[in-house]
Amino acid sequence: MDNYNVENEFGTGSAKCPNCAASIFYNEKAGKLVCNMCGSLFDPESLKPLGRIENRDTDAADEKEDNKQEFICDSCGAAVVTDYNTSATFCAFCGSPTLIKRRLSTVFRPDLIIPFKIGQEEAITNYLEWAKKQKNVPKKFTSKAVLSKITGYYVPFWLLDADCIADVRGKGQKFQGEKTENYDIDRTLNYKVRRVPFDGCRSISNTLMEAIEPFDYKDLKEYHDMYLPGFFANRYDLSAIDMIDVIKIRLDNYASEIVKSFSTSDYDEYKAIGVSGSYSDNFKQAYALMPVWFLNIEYEGSTYGIAVNGQTGKASGSLPINKKSVYSHAAPKLIIDILKYLGLTLILPAISVIPVAFLSGERANFLACLIVFLLIWIPVFSLGLIAFIPFIRQKFNNMRFYGSVTIDKAPDIAQYIDLKNSVAMENRDSFAYMSAKADDDESKNIAQRPLSERILSNIFKS
Ligand SMILES: [Zn+2]
Ligand SMILES: [Zn+2]
Repeated sequence: MDNYNVENEFGTGSAKCPNCAASIFYNEKAGKLVCNMCGSLFDPESLKPLGRIENRDTDAADEKEDNKQEFICDSCGAAVVTDYNTSATFCAFCGSPTLIKRRLSTVFRPDLIIPFKIGQEEAITNYLEWAKKQKNVPKKFTSKAVLSKITGYYVPFWLLDADCIADVRGKGQKFQGEKTENYDIDRTLNYKVRRVPFDGCRSISNTLMEAIEPFDYKDLKEYHDMYLPGFFANRYDLSAIDMIDVIKIRLDNYASEIVKSFSTSDYDEYKAIGVSGSYSDNFKQAYALMPVWFLNIEYEGSTYGIAVNGQTGKASGSLPINKKSVYSHAAPKLIIDILKYLGLTLILPAISVIPVAFLSGERANFLACLIVFLLIWIPVFSLGLIAFIPFIRQKFNNMRFYGSVTIDKAPDIAQYIDLKNSVAMENRDSFAYMSAKADDDESKNIAQRPLSERILSNIFKS
């Protein structure tokens, strides 16, 4: 390590891992040098080792694995491990019934497991209760026949420990009567995260797994094959190294959240700008299986995942919107908007017709009136469309989200960070300027919009 020459090694683009001599590569998003062979991470400048997040289950299976088997989905490639007496008849990720059964190809040795506590019946009940609260859920997503396919999977998670440093920027405001003091928030945080879960399964969406978090780690046990019968364990297809950029994003978000939670008492208003720089090391990883009832449902050409936490029973899903019911909601509003627009475009031509009607004497010349009317109305109507069409289109797009299901946010950081004992914060907040009253971003935003749009949004307020 001592005589490791950064300039030479790096200059040639073939830096070698000091631990295993494989090539190491710079991961731009994570800002680290990564060895895909042994999972070592290095600081690109000092080449200081930052810990290791290695791939697992890569050794060939031996006789110890003979009590288990593997099913590979012929159509989506998902691989699940079960004990020898549990068999799969369809793939819950893509619905395909074509599964190839085989001996384990590589070892299956997770470190930890949380065993299932919630059964299938209870999972379906919990899910239905959750789905009832969502708007415009298509029937298929509450059908008992469809839901009976919900399958108990042990989902592979990487539980990550790391020591992090992050520079966080934001804006703070203190209200003093009619005036507002504005501050630039600038903090450097040192914090440790413990066992932050990252789902290593490509077929299951990260946000869906975040939505059914947290898992209660008090039930974490050393992995043993005896927990497997009756369930399927997914093979991970994303190693923790593959997820290094996802990991960085989540750790940075935690930094922003820590500052937010510590700043609420200092300021009346706090707005995050973001993380201007971050660094993390001492990576440690545990490979854990978490119990999840899971089903992918195919709907109008897309796949939607639903999941129930097999330990806590928390249900969630990414559901489509029942378009029929959204549009039947939207249609009357749309018709009213179109009538309003028509009415608006009629004002100018209608006024213009009045003098023509008078000028044409006792016998009002209907044809003259009509020509004047149309000559004014057609261009007004057509020009107005330039503003009206995009406006309506925008409004219609917004309506499409009217019934959409927003996945719950990732759980509270307190689960993974000991806010009292493992956060150190350096505060460089500074006074920026005094303003007359609270900056109202909403009104500022509206003021910046073009006049036509402002007028339209006033008239078509819903
Ligand atoms: Zn290596
Ligand atoms: Zn499949």
